Amino acid sequence: MTCKLLIATNNSGKLTEYRALLSGTPCELVSLGDAGIKTMPEETGSTMEENARLKATVIAAQSGMVTLADDSGLEVDALGGEPGVRSARYAGEYASDSDRVRHLLGKLEGVPWERRSATFRCVIAIATPDGKVATTQGECHGTIALQPKGGHGFGYDPVFFIPDVGKTMAELPSEVKDSISHRGRAAAKVPKVLSLPPFECR
Ligand code: IMP
Repeated sequence: MTCKLLIATNNSGKLTEYRALLSGTPCELVSLGDAGIKTMPEETGSTMEENARLKATVIAAQSGMVTLADDSGLEVDALGGEPGVRSARYAGEYASDSDRVRHLLGKLEGVPWERRSATFRCVIAIATPDGKVATTQGECHGTIALQPKGGHGFGYDPVFFIPDVGKTMAELPSEVKDSISHRGRAAAKVPKVLSLPPFECR
């Protein structure tokens, strides 16, 4: 019997990435829409791990399915780690990706290249309906560019410049982003977690 894994996100960019990143697992991936779930719990945690655990456990209990949720974000050293856990809400509740990028670039106005270092971080939580949880993490280091560049990806990708590659995350095709990104690195650890108790999806 195929195991089902509910991917608990309303972010279509993340869902697309997980479909590619987890294509090698034996699980059938199910979206919130497929499961008939319309609302996600509010992210009330003070860390990405708390929020990922909260989202995965609440949706697993609600759906009766093993559920994967992540919390991810951008930590900028010159801003003391901001926006961090507030990355999605950095420019207000109803802001768009380009509003957030503009807001970030405004905060970094006048900050020289060598002080624009940043980290993308992702914590994945996988929960059973009865509340057992496992987590994985991944990170990716870069520099906040002076202006946006590139049309792939989502969120802060157009201003996340990766020195080793010489491009922003948004200039990379999805398979290249997936091989080096925070989410790709956290997701690479998921098949092993799923194969072990309490999930045992093989
Ligand atoms: P959350 O994990 O849904 O709370 O949202 C995290 C926010 O961080 C997203 O809305 C994006 O703004 C940003 N973010 C997380 N991962 C990425 C990524 O891979 N690329 C660009 N921005 C990201």
